[in-house]
Amino acid sequence: MELKNIVIRGGEVVGPRGVRRAEVLITGETIAEVGEVEVPPDAETIDASGKLVIPGAVDVHTHLDMEVGVTRSADDFTTGTRAAACGGTTTVIDFATAYRGESPAKGLANWHEKAQGKAVVDYGFHMSITELTVPPEDVVAEMAEAGVSSFKLYMTYPERLMVPDEVIAQMLVAAGRAGSLVCLHCEDDAAIARLRAEALAGGHTEPRWHARSRPPSAEADAVARAVRLAEEAEAPCYVVHLSSAPALERVRTARERGLPVFAETCPQYLYLSAERYEGETEAAANYVCAPPLRDPWHQEELWEGLRRGHLQVVATDHCPFNTYTRRAGLQGGGWRDFTQIPGGLPGIETRLSLVYQRVLDGDLSIMEWIDRCCTTPARLFGLHPRKGELAPGADADVVVFDPGFERPLVADTLHMNVDYSPYEELVVRGWPVLVMVRGTVVAANGQPRGAPGWGRYLARGPSGHLD
Ligand SMILES: [Zn+2]
Repeated sequence: MELKNIVIRGGEVVGPRGVRRAEVLITGETIAEVGEVEVPPDAETIDASGKLVIPGAVDVHTHLDMEVGVTRSADDFTTGTRAAACGGTTTVIDFATAYRGESPAKGLANWHEKAQGKAVVDYGFHMSITELTVPPEDVVAEMAEAGVSSFKLYMTYPERLMVPDEVIAQMLVAAGRAGSLVCLHCEDDAAIARLRAEALAGGHTEPRWHARSRPPSAEADAVARAVRLAEEAEAPCYVVHLSSAPALERVRTARERGLPVFAETCPQYLYLSAERYEGETEAAANYVCAPPLRDPWHQEELWEGLRRGHLQVVATDHCPFNTYTRRAGLQGGGWRDFTQIPGGLPGIETRLSLVYQRVLDGDLSIMEWIDRCCTTPARLFGLHPRKGELAPGADADVVVFDPGFERPLVADTLHMNVDYSPYEELVVRGWPVLVMVRGTVVAANGQPRGAPGWGRYLARGPSGHLD
């Protein structure tokens, strides 16, 4: 069968060498050419005049259909990836988890089952390890074979997820040697445990105590420990959802010493602050996440870190819960106790446009915006050159982005399966008007078009290097 040709013309194409007026020729599922292309006579033409043509965005931190206590995150692989598509994200990497007593192979099989036939955009998996029952080299080799080249280890959540430093050290060594990457949730659990116990003993159970018991110092201390463990292991490491200035400082100084320490932040830490915990309890509960939202001054530091490349990635940590779920709490016992509120925020749909607002302000260049949201995430996690860049031979994951498209980020018109939006009062300028995954339209004008099941599993190559 003849492959279908599509040409996108008239737009400003954001490519590896800059922004320029160019055409993008798609043949079948692949980008055939970028530049002044010879258009085949049978090609379908898409007019992108006045628009930016950019690579599909890559979100390397999502939690779809994840069990949390007695509940689960509100988006499954269909609703979550459909929302991702509407916002211009064409690849997600979700966190498969091997809970205690489960092998990584079992954990991975569970997540394949959740995603199978449901995703609208392409997807890969990290593997979260909660214990080591076989040699770490075996885990790393088995997962690499299955296309999983990154791991997540938790330095907190002792009930279900935390591993001791010894396991982190072993995994860093094994992963580093094999070209895989260890991602770390950095919050010092000893400090948190002490502060939580103190808060509860004092009768302080409101959501604001969630933030007060997880201070920036606990994050910074854990980042420092992660850096030391990675340095000793001579391995790269990746700090997920970095939220505060002192933690950023630890990453910056490590990188200035030449260490391969990478870090992501998320839109909630760039846009929202701990003031959200000060309202009435029910509303405040909707902003519980870990690390928590910080005082407003951290935001500018994080933007500055992004601009200067001390932070390399913006991901979402998308893990939505509906208001009624928060109210029920983890044990079904109610939200009046901050330790029982399931944590996480919706964001899979809104990341690309939220970061673009700083391009409008002149604080980030278009190239930096695309780099942090598309290219570097793909490169760091073994998806490049297939994903993250508009270049011949890459998958035709293409977004036509209208810089003039204005919309309020209200829950009613977004597609995440959740009854509130953290950005309800915000009107953004710039939104994807056409989103393709491998040459097939999955969203248009912010509305879903794709069919569940079009999204394909991505076996990833080596992770943890940008060269
Ligand atoms: Zn997460």
